[in-house]
Amino acid sequence: MKQLYASIFQIRTKRLSLALAFLSTVFLSYGCLTTLNRFSTASHEPALWVGVILFSFCIPTVLGWFSSRLFFGAFFSMTTAVFSTLAAWATQSSSYLLFILVQAALCYLLFRLDERKAAEIIIRNVEIEKAINRKNDMEIAFREEGTSISVLFEKYTSYYNLRSLADDFSASLDLKDLSRIIVSKTMQLIPQGQRCALFLAEPRDGQLSLVASTNLEGEEKMKAKGGDLFDFWVLKNKKSLIVTDIQKDFRFDLQKTAATEPARSVIAAPLAYGGKVIGTLRLSAAEPRIFSTDELRLLDAISTLASAAISNALLYQKTEELAIHDSLTGLYVRRYFLERLIEEHRRSLITSAPLTLLMCDLDHFKACNDRFGHGVGDYVLMKTSDLLKDKASHGIVARYGGEEFAVLLPKISIQEGRFLAQAIRKSLEETKLAVRREMIPMTISIGVASVPVDTLDSEELIRIADRRLYEAKAKGRNRICGGESAL
Ligand code: GH3
Ligand code: MG
Ligand code: MG
Repeated sequence: MKQLYASIFQIRTKRLSLALAFLSTVFLSYGCLTTLNRFSTASHEPALWVGVILFSFCIPTVLGWFSSRLFFGAFFSMTTAVFSTLAAWATQSSSYLLFILVQAALCYLLFRLDERKAAEIIIRNVEIEKAINRKNDMEIAFREEGTSISVLFEKYTSYYNLRSLADDFSASLDLKDLSRIIVSKTMQLIPQGQRCALFLAEPRDGQLSLVASTNLEGEEKMKAKGGDLFDFWVLKNKKSLIVTDIQKDFRFDLQKTAATEPARSVIAAPLAYGGKVIGTLRLSAAEPRIFSTDELRLLDAISTLASAAISNALLYQKTEELAIHDSLTGLYVRRYFLERLIEEHRRSLITSAPLTLLMCDLDHFKACNDRFGHGVGDYVLMKTSDLLKDKASHGIVARYGGEEFAVLLPKISIQEGRFLAQAIRKSLEETKLAVRREMIPMTISIGVASVPVDTLDSEELIRIADRRLYEAKAKGRNRICGGESAL
C-alpha cells in the first residue's frame, strides 16, 4: 500500500514538474520575445533582462529533465538555444550565445547525475535482492530449525517412553504378570490399536498359546488362543508384519482370518529368546489403514524390550526350576519339599482335608552300590524316581536324602496312602533290572503317616512317618508300616 502511494505521488510530481516546465518555458519565451521587441525600440536598456530571462531557462530544463529525462531536457535546451540565437541576432551581440553553452553544460551535468543515480539504483536493487535472498534463506533455516526441534522433541519423547517402558518391564519376573504389563503398555504407547495379544510358543512342541491379551476396556478373552495366521507368519518369517487392510492383502486367506480375527488392520512383531523366535506381540484395529510403518517401528522397539524382559523371566523360571529339582532324578529337593509340606499342611487344616506322607527308603542300597558300582546305583535311583512320579502323579514327590524319598499326598487319607505305598513297593519289587545277566534286587520300605489321623502338626507328621519307616526296616524291610488300623 505504501509503495502504491509512493508511486502515485511520484507520477503526480513528474506531471506537475512537466506542467511547470511548460508554463515557465511559455512564460520565459513570452518574456524573451517581449524584451527583444522592446530592445529593437529602446536600444540597450533591457540587455540585463534578456540575460536573466535566458538564464532562467535553466529552471524549465531541470524540471523537464526531472519529469521525462532526455527528451524534455533536450527540448527545453533547444528552446533556450533558439531564444539565445534570436537574442544574439536582435541585439547584434554574440555574448548571448554563451547561454547555449550554459544549457549544454547543465544538460551534461544532469546527464552525469542521472547516470550516477541509475548506478546507485542498480546497486541498491542488487542489495535489495541480496537482502530478500538472505531473508528467504533465514526463513528456510528457521523452518528447518523448527522441524528439527520438533523431530528432536519427538525422538526425546519416544526415547523417554522406551526408557520408562524398560523400567516397567523389569518390574516383574513372573511370566504371566510380565505379559500383562507388556500388552497394556503396548496399548498405551500405540493408542490406535484396539486390541493387543501376546503369544508364546511351548518349548516342547512349538505350539503357540495366548499368554495375555487386552482391548480398550481391559483384559479380554480371545477366540484364537493358539495364534492366528498373522502370528504364524511372523513366527515363520522371523520378522514383523504390517497388514493395512486384511480384505485386500493377498498373503492371507480372508475366510480363515475373518473366523478368528474381526480386525481390518494388524501389526505384529516377533518376540525372541536365545536367537529364536518364541512368540509374537500383535496389535489390531477394526478399521483399515490404522497403522503406519511408524507404529510398526515402535512395536518393533517394544517387542525388542519385551523379548529381553521375557528372556529374563524365562531364565529366572529355569533357575528356579533348577534350584528346586534334583539333578539326578528330576524330583523336588528336600528344601522345596518342606516348603510345600508347610503350604499343604496349612491348606489341609483350613479345608479339613486329609494329608498323607510316605517316607520311602531303598533296602540294602549300599550293598547294591558295592556290588554293581555307583553307576548302576544311580540308574536304580532314577528308575525308582520314575516309578514314584508315575504312581503318585497327583502328589509331591521329593528326593529326601541319598536313597530316601518322600511323597506328600494332599486330600489322600491314610488308608488310600497305604494302598498307594503298597502299589509302589510291589511294583518296584517286580521291576526286573539286570546287569551282566545278574538281576538287581530292588525293594523298598515305606513309613506312612497322616493328618489328622496321626497328628495335626507338620513336623510331627515327618517324625511319625520316619519312625514307621525304621519300624519297617526293623521288621525285615520290603514292607509298609502305618495305617494298618485304618484298614
Ligand atoms: P538300609 O536297607 O538299612 O537302608 O541299608 P542301605 O544300605 O540302603 O542304607 P545305608 O544308609 O547304609 O546306605 C545308603 C547308601 O546310599 C550309601 C551311599 O553310598 C548310597 N548313596 C547315597 N546317595 C547316592 C547316590 O546319589 N548315588 C549312589 N549310587 N549311591 C548313593
Ligand atoms: Mg536304604
Ligand atoms: Mg537310607
